[in-house]
Amino acid sequence: MVIPAVPDTLLVEKLAVANRILYRQGVVDSFGHVSVRHDKSPHHFLLARNMAPALVRRQDILVFDLDGTALDAGGQRVYLERFIHGEIYRARPDVQAVVHSHSPSVIPFGATRQPLRPIFHMCGFLGEGTSLFEIRDVAGDTDMLVSSNALGAALAAALGSRSAVLMRGHGSTVVGASLEQAVYRAVYTEVNAKLQMQAVALGDVMYLNAGEAAKTAATNETQVPRAWELWQREVGPVG
Ligand SMILES: [Zn+2]
Repeated sequence: MVIPAVPDTLLVEKLAVANRILYRQGVVDSFGHVSVRHDKSPHHFLLARNMAPALVRRQDILVFDLDGTALDAGGQRVYLERFIHGEIYRARPDVQAVVHSHSPSVIPFGATRQPLRPIFHMCGFLGEGTSLFEIRDVAGDTDMLVSSNALGAALAAALGSRSAVLMRGHGSTVVGASLEQAVYRAVYTEVNAKLQMQAVALGDVMYLNAGEAAKTAATNETQVPRAWELWQREVGPVG
């Protein structure tokens, strides 16, 4: 087994902060998780041990290989769905961070097989729409969890080149080119879902077109640090 160098301390702290931000922003509750690719090895990633995201401290962050094996768990429990992260990092070299959640407003879209589409400029990253992961097609009747490498690989295939994939009857997974970007996208995926439901109830929705989605996404990438600064301040020191 290849043991990578120790990850950057600031990256570990940032991942603890990301966990708490996602809780405070209503993306995760007792469940859901966020990971970041290891800064010293593209074949490893950082993810908390099995615990509620709002409680994650620096010392709760573990190193995993892409098969989902923890290198340093020391007998602690790990997330059942860690395979989501490893298989997406394996399939998508551009992805540096992954958020998996059951954020509530997104659930109806998976259940009705309706894609999320960018309803306003903050969600240009949804320009390609969301794809759908149908676990029943892959594995029949299950507990809905992505609890193996095979299921993780099938989820990564469903995600394709997109920013987000809906998981029918379960939740969603959002990716980014940085931890800050993945957290931003997870927060605004939930916002988009709320707004899209409201707009659909009112009438025929005019979504951002491909050109608008690409341009707003490019502009908003430069604005992510503003949101991160506020959200980090709100959660305070992570211990
Ligand atoms: Zn889940």
